[in-house]
Amino acid sequence: MFYYVGVETEEPEFDFIVVGSGAAGMTAALTAVLAGLRTVVLEKTEFYGGSTARSGGGVWLPGNAALRKAGRQDSPADAAKYLAYVAGEDTPQSLRSAFLEHGPAMLDLILANTPLTLEWVPNYSDYYPEAPGGKASGRSVEPGLMDAKVIGRDIAQLRPPYLPAPVGITVTQANYRWMSLGTSHWRALTTTARVTGRMITTKLRKRQLLSMGQALAAGLRAGLARADVPLWLNTPMTGLDIQDGRVVGVQVLRGGVPAVLKASRGVLLATGGFERNAEMRQRYQRAPIGTEWTVGSPGNTGDGIVAGEEAGGVLELMDDAWWGPSIPLASGPVFCLAERSLPGSLFVNAAGERFVNEAAPYVDAVHAMYDKHTDDNPHIPCWMITDQRYRNRYVFTGMPPRKALPRRWYKAGVVFKSDSLAELAGQIGVSADGLIKTVDKFNEFARTGKDTDFGRGDSAYDHYYGDPNCKPNPNLAPLAQPPFYAIKIVPGDLGTKGGLRTDERARVLARDGGVIAGLYAAGNTSAMVMGRSYAGPGATIGPAMTFGYLAALDAAEKDVIRKP
Ligand SMILES: Cc1cc2nc3c(=O)[nH]c(=O)nc-3n(C[C@H](O)[C@H](O)[C@H](O)COP(=O)(O)OP(=O)(O)OC[C@H]3O[C@@H](n4cnc5c(N)ncnc54)[C@H](O)[C@@H]3O)c2cc1C
Repeated sequence: MFYYVGVETEEPEFDFIVVGSGAAGMTAALTAVLAGLRTVVLEKTEFYGGSTARSGGGVWLPGNAALRKAGRQDSPADAAKYLAYVAGEDTPQSLRSAFLEHGPAMLDLILANTPLTLEWVPNYSDYYPEAPGGKASGRSVEPGLMDAKVIGRDIAQLRPPYLPAPVGITVTQANYRWMSLGTSHWRALTTTARVTGRMITTKLRKRQLLSMGQALAAGLRAGLARADVPLWLNTPMTGLDIQDGRVVGVQVLRGGVPAVLKASRGVLLATGGFERNAEMRQRYQRAPIGTEWTVGSPGNTGDGIVAGEEAGGVLELMDDAWWGPSIPLASGPVFCLAERSLPGSLFVNAAGERFVNEAAPYVDAVHAMYDKHTDDNPHIPCWMITDQRYRNRYVFTGMPPRKALPRRWYKAGVVFKSDSLAELAGQIGVSADGLIKTVDKFNEFARTGKDTDFGRGDSAYDHYYGDPNCKPNPNLAPLAQPPFYAIKIVPGDLGTKGGLRTDERARVLARDGGVIAGLYAAGNTSAMVMGRSYAGPGATIGPAMTFGYLAALDAAEKDVIRKP
């Protein structure tokens, strides 16, 4: 059945066709229509929003209005220095400059034309705050709470969040940071009380509040509705229409029937990454890999990347992803954030040895898993080891402190427990000698406050998800209180980050030189401006929105939209 959301149009001919309804696609569509282009958004699945709607909704964008409003000092030179350090040789300088130069104007346009509000996430540090130009106070903003009524009945087609909270509970990124501290810090208790109070009042008022990626996607969707941009669900793009070397439209299925839609000014491929395409993952990425460890959106099967490559586009960074250590539960993987940084836990390989700073930025932690993985000493899976003290204090993957972990997790072989480290090692097939020595050494680091092996707790970023009450190092506490736990950890991801190489106007570069006329790519369909790294929280959505915006401006032959 073909569903239609938005304003009916008789005319199947457009100026600009946007394929994909995530952050990149919806930002581009809104920009395009404000620039005067007849625009449509095509979405393959029955929901709009993609990974964007499932996400934390963080937007990393140096110098943006919400940061300025919060009084955060920054300079373009510092931001440029920092991005050069992070993305380095993997990204052309022109792309980095375009992102930094145009990002704030893009956000101004979005804020002026949608109900979205954005707020600084206090002290959510850049991922490398000690690097040149880095900021420990962070450059990340998140959506303010939004009333679901801004999108009316379209709420029913908003892609659901990745971890649905109990009905009525709305948590922001800033809330999550404190709530993960469970019972160990007064701010955890006050934040939990505030969130609970909010739940009660919203229920009493019969309202629904949206936060994080749900608010971001809903806000963009509301902006499209206000601007009368049609968004067609259940309408997959199946290929590009190319004439005389120029992309002039797309082939689609409408209600299961093949059709061609014409685009006089161009087509933007914003179909997300290829995280849900097993064949592509195996072809491009390191083993072991599949589709079961990603938390990316179900529709993201690399369609735009394939279509762009068939049209002659250059592919880059295909072996990489927005990786993160994840727990492979049967109900779906859980992407670990605070769990890895809180004190009293560590990661070991099959030899029972640590191999990485567990609190490191998530992409780095998984790069270490793959780099060090061998047949003789597997690092995939690796194991998170912790103890009862940790369980008594902190929230673990949504489980309140002290609450017994579900039996099904043990049955599935994802969690193990024992009073003895040696026995625990036996259960998970890890060297017992290695594990005991590692825990002894780690406990000594916790006493001195200095991890001389991997520097856990040396960076301000590590501290963000640490426990401020844990002294002398907020990321280090001994594992001394049985029972001990082992939790399986695999290389999960938020999505892939390799794709079509684009220029500073988001035009797709051709293998035989130049650009492919009429073809643009943004977001995870493009080879991302962050290269192999990740500048800070929101560093996938910030560029996705910015290059979507730039694609639309280029198609409209404008440099800026002066009067939003
Ligand atoms: C749980 C989670 C938390 C995250 N938190 C953050 C965060 O806080 N900050 C951050 O920066 N990043 C975060 N990320 C990553 C971020 O969400 C993505 O990198 C980003 O949203 C990608 O945006 P996009 O526009 O490229 O693609 P998406 O938002 O994934 O949208 C792509 C859309 O294209 C559609 N599509 C695919 N193929 C076709 C086709 N053939 N025809 C039509 N439509 C098609 C898909 O169905 C999908 O709806 C998170 C991701 C997850 C899953």
